[in-house]
Amino acid sequence: MKRATGWALLYLGLLLLPVAVGMWAQRAGGLEHRPWLDDWAAGLGMMGFCAVLLSFFLLGRFSLLSTRLGSDRLMLAHQLFARTAVAMLLLHPFFYTLWDAPPGPVDASAARALRIGAGDWGLATGLLALGALLALVATAIWRPRSDMAYPRWRLLHAALALAVLGLGLHHTLVSGRYAQLPAVALLWWLLAAAALCSLLWVHAVRPLWLAVRPYRITRLEPAAERIWLLEVSPTRRPRRAFRAGQFAWIRLGHLRAYDDNPFSLSRANDVQGRLQFLIKEAGDMTGSLSQHRPGDTVHVDGPHGQFAWPPDAPAIVMHAGGIGVAPFVALLADAVARGDPRPIRLIYADRSAAQMIDLEGLSGASALADFACVPMVERPAPGWQGLSGRLDAAGVQACLTHTAVAPWAAQATHMVCGPEPMMDAVESALVAHGVPGERIVSEHFRYDFAGRSPRSLAIRRAWWALSATSLLALALALAWR
Ligand SMILES: Cc1cc2nc3c(=O)[nH]c(=O)nc-3n(C[C@H](O)[C@H](O)[C@H](O)COP(=O)(O)OP(=O)(O)OC[C@H]3O[C@@H](n4cnc5c(N)ncnc54)[C@H](O)[C@@H]3O)c2cc1C
Repeated sequence: MKRATGWALLYLGLLLLPVAVGMWAQRAGGLEHRPWLDDWAAGLGMMGFCAVLLSFFLLGRFSLLSTRLGSDRLMLAHQLFARTAVAMLLLHPFFYTLWDAPPGPVDASAARALRIGAGDWGLATGLLALGALLALVATAIWRPRSDMAYPRWRLLHAALALAVLGLGLHHTLVSGRYAQLPAVALLWWLLAAAALCSLLWVHAVRPLWLAVRPYRITRLEPAAERIWLLEVSPTRRPRRAFRAGQFAWIRLGHLRAYDDNPFSLSRANDVQGRLQFLIKEAGDMTGSLSQHRPGDTVHVDGPHGQFAWPPDAPAIVMHAGGIGVAPFVALLADAVARGDPRPIRLIYADRSAAQMIDLEGLSGASALADFACVPMVERPAPGWQGLSGRLDAAGVQACLTHTAVAPWAAQATHMVCGPEPMMDAVESALVAHGVPGERIVSEHFRYDFAGRSPRSLAIRRAWWALSATSLLALALALAWR
């Protein structure tokens, strides 16, 4: 909680930085005062554009951030703060007092203040930047309901982001009143250059770096119905170690930077640096796995994520839905290697037994001091000995009261990974069961999630609070100007 507040305050500070520098430079004597509403409009524009630039870093692509905050939280912040930016930038032009001017020829002095005189490109680039931003956010919201291939959408998203960056910077520097102050202009150049570098890092530098450090497929075989076990080995010693619970972006044999997919490790590095993944056929890339062979090249970008063992938990209950079992396989193998003595329970739900992986063979979990797996399937075959049903509210209740889980359910830390509806159901049921939010840790396999769980709703509340606080801080800064 403390750490989350620290990151939220850092974000708020960065969001307000251009406004603060602008107010400070104005007080230092750079600009004459103008109506409060004009400065409010400018402040909204500055904060909105700053939120756009900060979004370039909330991608889950930078190990430094993703291993501390979790890629799913970063991506949720990316999606939510993009909405804040759009709202601020849409409102930004309408507060200028110019609109209150009596009908007739535009007041020349106000127009000069706004820098929208004839021949000035600032207004045009501002409108184009806003259009590109709206297209960017609209296509991101619409994509999950469309047939558009994910890699193509990512390319479009990056192209629109580049357009917003370039056009927005031009508009800010040409039309922005505060950007006429050298300190503010310098700050915008620095922020835009940093955002551009982050885009280049993700789409050019990092892929090239990975291309000269490829991995090779050493094992590729079916692990269950429509699930593959992929093992890869590095051709050069990796610079950073992967830990159980983390994930990597992988590209199978090609160099298209915008076309990689995230997969959790089902086994972190052994002494040879080998990595294993359990991959479910879900679409284009995962459906093409069968066409690959041992020896083929794989590019592995990681480690990312922070779905790690909770160090202080007295007991752990894992809730896995379908292929969401993958990170738990790595965590269990890691617990075996460390000789973790704590009670560990795995609730493993899937549609049918045929889709379940050989947990024992892949993790060696039976060697743990105190471990039990509670399997549950939706469509039990005759002779099935586990629970039947799905992990909805009733299913979670049945699992939590199961004799193997019940003694630990209340004091354990609960780790959740699976399809979004299952995660929402499990998290809601856990909260209803009296498990405090800080003892529920989750890993999301989809970034376009609209989770309804208490934790997702708490994140949304924090976003509203942060957006409202930024507006309040803007009002205070303007009062101080
Ligand atoms: C942190 C994380 C860990 C994951 N771990 C595993 C795992 O261990 N095993 C497993 O089978 N699956 C895992 N997934 C899901 C996996 O990434 C997708 O199933 C896979 O990318 C689908 O690719 P596709 O081309 O086959 O399908 P597509 O038809 O192209 O995509 C199907 C859906 O998968 C998602 N997706 C596709 N490409 C990407 C991408 N580049 N980035 C993010 N989402 C994408 C999108 O929501 C898309 O709508 C994980 C996802 C995340 C975010």
